[in-house]
This record gives sequence, structure tokens and C-alpha cells, in this order.
Amino acid sequence: MNLKNLKHYDEFFTCAYCAYCVNNNAACPTFLSVRHEIVTGRGKMITARNLAQGLLKKDEGLDALTEGLFQCTFCGACEQECIVDIPLTEVYTELKGLVQDRIPTDTKKLYLNLESKFNIYGMDQADRNFWNFEVEDIYEELVNQPAEVGYFIGCVASYMGRASGAPVAILKLVDHANERISIFSPTENCCGNPFLLGGCQEKAETLAEYNVAEINKLGIKTLFVSCAGCYRVFKQEYPKLLRKELPFNVITHMEYILGLIKKEKLKLESLTQINVSFKDPCELGRHCGEYNIARELIDHLPGVTNLELPDNRENALCCGAGGLVKANYPDIAKDVVLKLIHQMEENGTELCLNACPSCQLNIDQFLQEQQSPILSIDISQLVHRLSQNYINSLAMNQ
Ligand code: SF4
Ligand code: SF4
Repeated sequence: MNLKNLKHYDEFFTCAYCAYCVNNNAACPTFLSVRHEIVTGRGKMITARNLAQGLLKKDEGLDALTEGLFQCTFCGACEQECIVDIPLTEVYTELKGLVQDRIPTDTKKLYLNLESKFNIYGMDQADRNFWNFEVEDIYEELVNQPAEVGYFIGCVASYMGRASGAPVAILKLVDHANERISIFSPTENCCGNPFLLGGCQEKAETLAEYNVAEINKLGIKTLFVSCAGCYRVFKQEYPKLLRKELPFNVITHMEYILGLIKKEKLKLESLTQINVSFKDPCELGRHCGEYNIARELIDHLPGVTNLELPDNRENALCCGAGGLVKANYPDIAKDVVLKLIHQMEENGTELCLNACPSCQLNIDQFLQEQQSPILSIDISQLVHRLSQNYINSLAMNQ
């Protein structure tokens, strides 16, 4: 181990120890749960610096650093607040590469599942399309067909039944709009985000090469995704991993759906007034700077009012599930999401709208545990409901 060889070595000495990353604005959500500073930006920078200077015993320092790195939700709030603009999340990823021999047991299991089955759940590739039973006819028409537009569904929505509402709603919207797109459901592999979040770049590269080749085979020019993690990985990480620009444009499912509404291919009708809050996913917002599409889409939804959570956009609260924390430290994931749920309960939210299946599921799990009347759904599910209202009202008037 030689920290001096790290690309970000100098950053350890740039840290001003000011603690803005600990408690300014959005603040470090994990720190508010565990209350020890090793998890924070400052804690990790001090530990790395002390290790580099030989002020800490190697094993003691690396064990502490591993704990801090893997209890971190990768929410990016620290980087947002850092007074000297240290690219903290990049530093964490590089440091994780140093501690691969001591990663948490559950991260090791994810790695093994990814290597053998190409998804974190260790389920068969053939089961990747289990979500499609409600839309089998539409699915069969679109799967692996050459098209200009493609939809990469991602592992969470494919395998986690409670997150399958997004792909089901999206396929129904595609059908309502009479569009032709391609889906790769059985030929997709994980985008590689769990390897990247674990600090193992090389293994993610293989998945990137595979997925890009599969998408290219179908002549896709625009790829849309409904997972914030997949979005960040395709948009920011694949060009770095593959050392070239992708031959297709990557957008969110919200941008695709908004386009259909603007072109009047989708028409919407409300039946009731509904108060929603959009949960900015960390990997879409702070990591990729994408805040406006969701607001613009919600502005096009009749009868829907976006209340905005008190902490939104760059100050949005983390859902607690990111950075592999849900797998490794579920108690932290719970503590973090409860603060977000409290904000939704205080502001009168009826529906929590998501653009990330991991956020949707963690919020949903603890809303149910709290017996809250708030529902956590993907934003596409609400659009589908409004589109279906329109279709039903046309049928009634005929
Ligand atoms: S990424 Fe989020 S959880 Fe991790 S140290 Fe920064 S603020 Fe804390
Ligand atoms: S905000 Fe930046 S400079 Fe200040 S303690 Fe955190 S990492 Fe160091």
C-alpha cells in the first residue's frame, strides 16, 4: 500500500478540517446516524492523511477507513459543501480500491453474485423478465428489436417485484403513445454500479463493455434509464471506463416521457387533486446535476402539485440506501430515511415520487413500517395513471 501513488493523494493535504462537510446544509446523513466522525468527509481525509504520514498503524488506519468508506451512502452532500472543492466521492472510490482485502462480507457476496450471475441478487439471467407478466404482449413486441430509442431497465426494477411498477408503467405509456422502442431485458447485465461503489473499477469495465455492445447491436441512438444509479454510471462512468464517448445519448425516463407529452403523443387527465413531493435521487441530483426534468414533468401533470420538500435539489436528503449501505448496514439506511419521511409527513405529501428504484424501495419499506398513509412510487406510475384516466374518459364519451 502506497498512498503516495494515489491520484488524489494531494487532496488529503488540501482538507482545511473546517467540518462544513459534516454539518453544513444537507450535512452528512450517516454521521447523524452513527455519530462518529470517521464516516464523514473530514474523518476520512484525516485518517488517509495520518496513514500517509505514518501517524497511524497500518491495520488500525485501514480498518477505520474501511468502516468510514462503507458506512457512507455516497450521497455527495459532503462534496457539495466542501469549502475547498475536494472531489470527495472520487477520493472515496479511489480509497475503496485500497481496502479491497477488507470489504464487508455482504459486499463480497454482491461481488460473487455479479461475477457468476451478472446481478447482485444471484438470480438467474432467465428470470430477469419476471416483472413483465402484466405487459407481456407489449414486451414481446419490443424485446431486442432494432430501434432508435432503447430502455435499459436495470437489476433492481427487474428482480425486485415491488420496484417493477416503473418498467410496467413505462411499457404501458410506450403502448399508449404508439411508439416503437427496444428493451434488452434478458440480455442486460448489471450496469456495474455495485462494483464501482465497492471500489472495484476493473470488474465494472467488463460489464460496461458487454452492455454497450448489446445496445449497439440494436442501433440505439438514445438510451433512457429509470434508475439514478444506472444513469450516473452510463453518463459519467462508462466513458471513463471505456476511454471513449458512448455512441448513444443517455437520458432519464422522465425526459423520454416528457418528450411524449410535449409531442402530444400522451394525453393526461386528472380525476383528483394530489400533493406530491419529488425525492431528488443523490446519483441523479448532486452527482449529475439533473434537477429540472422532474419539476418540468410534474408541471405537465394535471391536478398534481409538487410541494417540494424543505430540503430539495442540491440540499436533498439522502434515502439511506446508496453506497451499498442498505446491504452492509441496514440500520443506517433506516435512520437516514426516517428523517426524509418526517419531512414528507410534515409537508402534507400524499405521494412520494421517485426516479430511482433503490430510493423508492427504501422509502416504501419504512413508510409501511411507520404505517404512514404516504405512498412511494416511481414518477412514471403516476403519469401512467393520468394517461389511463384520459383513455378511459375517451371511451366513456364514445
Ligand atoms: S457521501 Fe454522504 S454519507 Fe458519505 S461522507 Fe459524504 S455526506 Fe456523508
Ligand atoms: S468541507 Fe472539505 S475542507 Fe472542510 S473538512 Fe470537509 S473535506 Fe475538509
